[in-house]
Amino acid sequence: MAIKITDECINCGACEPECPNNAIYEAAEEWKYSDGTTLVGTMVLPNGKEFNAEELQEPLDDEIYFIVADKCTECKGFHNEPQCAAVCPVDCCVPDEDTKEVEEDLLTKKSFLHTK
Ligand code: SF4
Ligand code: SF4
Repeated sequence: MAIKITDECINCGACEPECPNNAIYEAAEEWKYSDGTTLVGTMVLPNGKEFNAEELQEPLDDEIYFIVADKCTECKGFHNEPQCAAVCPVDCCVPDEDTKEVEEDLLTKKSFLHTK
């Protein structure tokens, strides 16, 4: 499953540069699927959702850092553990129970996000 940031976040920013998928954004920041990935144009995610990679998307939170679940692979394919959780000083990067994925799903997502 993806990782999510709880409202205990203190907005320190330590997690953002650690994410290999560029899935973490500052509060109120617009984001794109193409940020930090090889995605281009109109595509369909492994979960069936269609999107345009370069289109600006609405922030998912206006007050604290947030993680785009569609871009989070729990760091699978890059690291042995979620890097955001490893560096967070207040331990507020936790599994997102709403995004059920097994390791195979996460590795498929990683391959989808980075084709090169
Ligand atoms: Fe990024 Fe890894 Fe954290 Fe997911 S678990 S948001 S891929 S750093
Ligand atoms: Fe928030 Fe933790 Fe990220 Fe700092 S490292 S911005 S406290 S989630």
